[in-house]
Amino acid sequence: MKKIIFNTPSFSNSGIQNIKLLKAKNFFSSGGFFTKKCENWLEKNIKVKKAILTNSCTAALEMCSLLLDINKGDEVIMPSYTFVSTANAFVLRGAIPVFAEIDERTKNIDASKIESLVTKRTRALVVVHYAGVSCDMDKIMQIVKKKNIYLIEDAAHSILSYFRNRPLGSYGDLATFSFHETKNIHCGEGGALLINNIAFVNRAKILRDKGTNRDDFNNNLTKKYTWVDLGSSYGLSEINAAFLFKQLLEAWQITKKRLVIWKKYYDELYTLEAKSLIKRPVLQNYSKHNGHIFYIVLGSKTDRHKLIKFLKIKKIMSIFHYIPLHNSPYGKRFYKNRNLKITERISDRILRLPIHNKMTIKKVIYICKIIKIFFDKKI
Ligand SMILES: *Cc1c(COP(=O)(O)O)cnc(C)c1O
Repeated sequence: MKKIIFNTPSFSNSGIQNIKLLKAKNFFSSGGFFTKKCENWLEKNIKVKKAILTNSCTAALEMCSLLLDINKGDEVIMPSYTFVSTANAFVLRGAIPVFAEIDERTKNIDASKIESLVTKRTRALVVVHYAGVSCDMDKIMQIVKKKNIYLIEDAAHSILSYFRNRPLGSYGDLATFSFHETKNIHCGEGGALLINNIAFVNRAKILRDKGTNRDDFNNNLTKKYTWVDLGSSYGLSEINAAFLFKQLLEAWQITKKRLVIWKKYYDELYTLEAKSLIKRPVLQNYSKHNGHIFYIVLGSKTDRHKLIKFLKIKKIMSIFHYIPLHNSPYGKRFYKNRNLKITERISDRILRLPIHNKMTIKKVIYICKIIKIFFDKKI
């Protein structure tokens, strides 16, 4: 058996064909033909009022922070169990991240533990739909309404995932996607800002264009373009957008394939869960996910360490994440003795198994067989 890698980004030759088309169009920076195509696709399929391509999800999160005029001392509630960019975008503007506990079943922010964290300084709630499985949006929407704070969805994992019948990314005032090569749909590096609160649309374009009204200029609404606000260079190159557009057209197919792999893992590992040796992801009726991540939760950190080693000997790559932000070298400074036991337990015990577009059912069966051998030996 050849080495089984953890991830390989999906690649299509027609993505390259799209890039070749740019020669005739003679336009390579942001805001061209394919950028508009991608943005239209997102607006139509994710049902958002406005989509803006960015050079990463991190960039889109920074735009959220700028759009909300986040200032020194503002508080932003978010899970600790997430990627650094969720927090960094707001900390860069002087905000204090207030880390909330996750739900053991979904690994998403625990909606029942948010309200007690809201203070007079709270400006926004950032939710992360972990592994493309939605947060409990009924409860989340209730809280942000009651407390009058902004909602941002870090939907980096969640393209073509749903809460009930509405796509993730269409709930927050603002939401973000990642098109990094490790995500379901990618263009190397890229992302999108999704806007549902139209009050943010015009300023978002200015922030993207280095704080200028270049977009008005391109649309013949002004004779000259100039510096009108804060901003940075957040747009996505047309070269990336050309590749991305093909991926978006294939997005349903890619998602379907991942879900087949995901389901096979889920079924094959049932017996280990029945013997209480592992826990599988818990499915919620309200959530339709996109097969972004398949993980198991082991009984202890030691078990996880041993299983990773055993899989490695069998040439199977497995990985884990996240180091909780409240325990990270930089994140510690914001942590005020909050009890995040579930976050820490999950972080210590979660293990992600290979899932990507080129995976075969045969490989999934093989991997599950090896995991079962590991547990048989232990007993
Ligand atoms: C990948 C990821 C990001 C960052 O995405 P980039 O496009 O690499 O900037 C942000 N948040 C979460 C939850 C992610 O998984």
